[in-house]
Formats: sequence, C-alpha cells, structure tokens
Amino acid sequence: MTRRTLASAVTAQGVALHAGTAVRMTLAPAEAGAGIVFRRSDLGRDIPALYDRVADTRLGTVLDDGAGARVGVVEHLMAALAGAEIDDALVTLDGPEPPILDGDAFSYLRLIDTAGLSEMPVPRRGLRVLRPVAVKEDGATACLLPAAALSFDLEIDFASAAIGVQRLVWDFSPEAFRRDIAPARTFGFMRDLDALLKLGLARGASLENTLAIEGDGLVNAGLQRFADEFVRHKILDAVGDLALAGAPLLARFEGRCSGHGLNNALLRALFAEPGNYETVTLA
Ligand SMILES: [Zn+2]
Repeated sequence: MTRRTLASAVTAQGVALHAGTAVRMTLAPAEAGAGIVFRRSDLGRDIPALYDRVADTRLGTVLDDGAGARVGVVEHLMAALAGAEIDDALVTLDGPEPPILDGDAFSYLRLIDTAGLSEMPVPRRGLRVLRPVAVKEDGATACLLPAAALSFDLEIDFASAAIGVQRLVWDFSPEAFRRDIAPARTFGFMRDLDALLKLGLARGASLENTLAIEGDGLVNAGLQRFADEFVRHKILDAVGDLALAGAPLLARFEGRCSGHGLNNALLRALFAEPGNYETVTLA
C-alpha cells in the first residue's frame, strides 16, 4: 500500500457540537509524512492529531497544541479519515471543533468522496502490536492484543433500556466501516442536558444530530439507523481515538464500557514501552 491524501480540498460548514457556534472546515491534501494536522485558522496555530496531544476526554477527545490552542470532538472526523485510509491531510477550522454535521462519520466520508483520494509514491506504514496492553478504570476495561489486522470486540452496558447491553464483534475494512459503523450517530441523555448547557457544552446538540435518550426511550427514534446503533457509535469513537496513534494499528481492540479516556490511556500505555509494538510496511 502507499500513503494516501485527498485529491483536492473540500469545505463544509455547520455547528460545533459543544460550542454551538458556526464553524467552517476545509479538508485539504498534505505532503506524504505530514500526518493529520488540525489548523485553527482563527488562532494561527497547528495541532498534530496525535495521542500525546490529547488534553481532555470527558465529552469527546480534545487536542491541545501545548500552548492552549485546542480542537475538540476530533474523533468522528478522525474515524472517517482512518476509515478512508487517509494518512496525510490538513484540516483547517475557524473555530474550536469540526462541525458535527449529522453526528456520525458518514457526513465526513461524503466530503472525502467529494474531494477524492490521491495515492502518493511512499509506502504506507502501520504499527503492529506485539504483546497485550490493557488499561482499566471504574469497572471499564480496554485492551489491544496482537493480531494480523485491526478488529474490535466492544460491549457496553447502560441502565437505560433504550441501550441496555450491546456487544459488537467487528473487523475493520474501509467497506465495512462505511457500511456498519460510519452511519452510527452520537447519543446523549436528556437528564444531562441542563447541566451540560450550564457548562457551555452540548450547545450545538440537536434532535437532528444526536440520538436523545429520555428514561428508557429515545426521543427521536426516527433518526435511528441501527437497533444496536449505540455500540456501533462507540466503535466509531474507538476507530477515531485509535487513529491518534498516527499510523494504522494491526491489533485487536477489546473494550468493555470503554470510552475516550480509556482509548487514550491505551495508546499512552502502548507507546510507553517500545517492546509493545513495531513499525511495519503495509503490503
Ligand atoms: Zn462519538
């Protein structure tokens, strides 16, 4: 395989999920080896999309350039870029988050389709996990196991009967990502909304971009695309969070009730020991 970037630039506009402000985003080609880089055009700062730049994981994955310039909710766009096997791209934003669009990764895949893909004459490199790496917190667990290709086994368990226990075992491929994972929307609980709004969060959340759970039911069930959409979205988040490794992983991910915090802790644990992984050229 060779490294891939976009064939042309594409621009989209929409609302930031947490800030609630209008954001303009441009996805553009980048040189081989550049990786995925977020550019805050309003601040004149660049932030590489790497696990060690993650500064907050409570309600989405937030990157920080080390001097206070941040980009939040990067995971859905990162998932779409990883799903399309794009290694190098420049993401320019004039605000604090990519536009949430439909609350999924499919909206971003459509933009990537519009831009087209460009193969660069540079071999694509991946990270092969060599031994198990595990993290846990408050009854939630996540681990990476050696495997020939990227796959997921994720289980979630929510008290609300709208979700309950959902488990999905899934093998990554660009086609499977587009079909099984990318359309799965983000979700939230109506009981949390007032508190989030007071904190200046979820201001762009709407019944058009977020599956809204009230008690044991869904407020906007008409938006739902899969019966087990919640676990699919958690895998979408994991695909995006693990893309912050900076190269595709050859590993099996197993998670139970895991989220952005554990996903990032897992990458930090992986890279803490050089013996945990090796860089390989992808055939
Ligand atoms: Zn998400």
